[in-house]
Amino acid sequence: MTTGTRGAAGGRGVIAAAGSGEGEEGTGGGLKTVMPAAEVVPGEAVLPGAEVVAGAGAGVVAGEAVWSAAGRFATGVCVVTAGSGPAVHGSTASTFTFISRRPPLVALSLRHGSHLLALIAEHRDFGINVLSSRQAALARHFASRKRAMGTRQFDGVGWAPAAGGLPRLAGTVCWLHCRAQRLIPAGDHEIVLAEVASVAEAGGSPLLYFAGALHPGSIPSDKE
Ligand SMILES: Cc1cc2nc3c(=O)[nH]c(=O)nc-3n(C[C@H](O)[C@H](O)[C@H](O)COP(=O)(O)OP(=O)(O)OC[C@H]3O[C@@H](n4cnc5c(N)ncnc54)[C@H](O)[C@@H]3O)c2cc1C
Repeated sequence: MTTGTRGAAGGRGVIAAAGSGEGEEGTGGGLKTVMPAAEVVPGEAVLPGAEVVAGAGAGVVAGEAVWSAAGRFATGVCVVTAGSGPAVHGSTASTFTFISRRPPLVALSLRHGSHLLALIAEHRDFGINVLSSRQAALARHFASRKRAMGTRQFDGVGWAPAAGGLPRLAGTVCWLHCRAQRLIPAGDHEIVLAEVASVAEAGGSPLLYFAGALHPGSIPSDKE
């Protein structure tokens, strides 16, 4: 077990908007890793007295146990879409959450190295399609490693390009057009912190995810 600031212990930095600050190393509109984190975003240094756990050690709960316990926190389910034209992509996620009202910020936790994360880092714009209780099949499809890539991935799925080409799925309970502000390394995942550019709500009951299973929500819609 090691301790220290995030920048020192994690060996990776916060990823910030290119053109937004000191230490950037990218060009264009994408997001790039900048080092060291503590110097780029001083407020994000680990709290005084807190430890950064670099590996499993005595007293550290096994990741699988935490994963299982966290599954007891019921969430909604969304399909996150990114890219445009032939390179559009969609991926199921349950870690979507609201962070701030002013400015309107949301967050997602995505597996480090995933194709979706790479697209968001490159293009910054992405869409959140909050699934309805009738869309469990879509949640499974966009989580499958066997699905096709690009537009073929959306064959048989009702969708239309929105906000510069992002796939917006039909029949969802909510759509949000987001723009990534920062990618924060967090273990084997990265937290995407994003500003919301536009939203559209619809009626319908939500799809829920609890204890590793999808559940059609029986919550009455307030919009029907
Ligand atoms: C209810 C539910 C909730 C979930 N929530 C989350 C969550 O919050 N966060 C999370 O990270 N995961 C979550 N997952 C898992 C996630 O949906 C799947 O792991 C999904 O496959 C990830 O897609 P990806 O494109 O992001 O990742 P990848 O695994 O990178 O890609 C998926 C597919 O694309 C292929 N591929 C990738 N890159 C390329 C390329 N360059 N060229 C060609 N093919 C390529 C892969 O072979 C694979 O078939 C959830 C799953 C479920 C069912």
